[in-house]
Amino acid sequence: MRRALLAGNWKMHLNIAEAVDLARGVVEAAAGCSDRDVMIAPPFTALSAVAQALQGSQVFLGAQNVAWEAKGAFTGEIAPPMLKDIGVRMAIIGHSERRHIFGEDDAMINRRLRAALEFGLTPVLCLGETLEEREGGKTMAVLEAQLRSGLQDVPTGQAEQTVLAYEPVWAIGTGKTATTEQAQEAHAFLRGLLASFYDKNLAETVRILYGGSVKPDNVDALMAQADIDGALVGGAALKIDSFKRIVRFQ
Ligand code: PEP
Repeated sequence: MRRALLAGNWKMHLNIAEAVDLARGVVEAAAGCSDRDVMIAPPFTALSAVAQALQGSQVFLGAQNVAWEAKGAFTGEIAPPMLKDIGVRMAIIGHSERRHIFGEDDAMINRRLRAALEFGLTPVLCLGETLEEREGGKTMAVLEAQLRSGLQDVPTGQAEQTVLAYEPVWAIGTGKTATTEQAQEAHAFLRGLLASFYDKNLAETVRILYGGSVKPDNVDALMAQADIDGALVGGAALKIDSFKRIVRFQ
């Protein structure tokens, strides 16, 4: 049985005081939800303060990206040990905004993922097709290529600790959600790929989150799908009322 994971990606929003306030709300929202995991990924500037706010709670601290080297001349990057140092447990990698706005390619994403694993951070590897790719019938080919290169040279023992997030690019921040059938189809396909790249046990262990306009009014239906193990939430994670309802999906 896979444990549900509800994750909030705060992107480039919130100052330190606002982030701490929201983090306290998430701690309250998650209290008593012992059957599921909750993660929040604030902007880097608020990580330390949010780490303090999460102390003693069951909420995991996440980063929105991670460098592939432990240290060195990499201006603007944050190394995995630096994140570990302030209590970060998970790292979002390959988000579509990193791929499409900042030009991160599959090879770079693979390096980030392997570094995260090497230093004991749980990577949340994001995958997803654009609208053009979906309309061109290329969704599954795109997902296969992204998963294959994302997990290249990742051994079974590390791959089973990786979390996947299926995030169709056309559904992120647009208010358009994939239908439950579209999401389930993509998740089942990804799980099948994991079985073929590794084995069935691993495929049954790895959590696959759905991301793309998850809201209080669609979270229950998405979470009811056999292969949807959680949600990666952008906009609706910035308001405590909506994120609380998502955390407490039924
Ligand atoms: C995201 O940023 O990963 C995301 C899914 O955003 P939103 O929930 O706003 O679509």
